[in-house]
Amino acid sequence: MRLSRSKKAVLVGTALLTIGVAGRAAAGEAPHRHTTAAPTFETPSPAPSHAVRPKKKTAAHTVAAHAPAAPELGKKTGGPAGSHLSTGTSAVALTFDDGPDPVQTPRMLKLLAQQHVHATFCLIGKNVRRHPELVRQIVAGGNTLCNHTWSHSLTIGKQPAARIQADLRRTNDAIHQADPKAKIEYFRAPGGNFTPRLVATAKSLGMTSVYWKVDPRDWDHPKGESDAAHRARVISTVEKHVGKGAIILSHDYNQPDTIAAYRSLIPWLRHRYRLVALPV
Ligand SMILES: [Zn+2]
Repeated sequence: MRLSRSKKAVLVGTALLTIGVAGRAAAGEAPHRHTTAAPTFETPSPAPSHAVRPKKKTAAHTVAAHAPAAPELGKKTGGPAGSHLSTGTSAVALTFDDGPDPVQTPRMLKLLAQQHVHATFCLIGKNVRRHPELVRQIVAGGNTLCNHTWSHSLTIGKQPAARIQADLRRTNDAIHQADPKAKIEYFRAPGGNFTPRLVATAKSLGMTSVYWKVDPRDWDHPKGESDAAHRARVISTVEKHVGKGAIILSHDYNQPDTIAAYRSLIPWLRHRYRLVALPV
């Protein structure tokens, strides 16, 4: 009898272990499931803060009465911590992050102008300070702006609200030094690592938090992937996953192949969707 009990114990233990392993595997895949596109980090991050969507309403929904009004992108947010992943209409929005870049941003602006399309640029404060003239060019081209923090901290959402606010204000101040009339009504967390505190702080500064629906991982250049294969992957990922209202993430900073990819993508997208900059 003792032998049989211990056999049972072994069986139960094995079963529990199997469930545990399966559970962990499922949890590991969870971050991949909340968008229709490929995994979503701009830069690898060991502990994705957006792996689990908050079930309760976040602090972002309670705004102080004196806060400037942030634009609405529809009632549905869908992104981590109450950030938006769609435009709220059938229009599709192109967003380009991490600039301005002295070489690539003017090329992207030229392409957008040629195609009569506007986009949203998520700017890094440090890069704004180096290239204020590009901020003016982005705005003059009819594009809209998004704050992407001062130095692309992937963990800014874990900092105290006062430090977050100082970082976001510093970035907005640099943009306003470049163009005093510039409207900055959107915020995107580096890596998409939104937290309720980050979304709420951005909102208190009049900025709506924007995530994305489609991420072609244009920043990712796996070993062995040729430039042509990279461009083809970016194009096919966007074409496969885009839908009405999608916000598409790409980068104008140091990504020449992204511009080459969008040379094909923009005409393809224009044929099927209305392309807009996020509204201000
Ligand atoms: Zn970024």
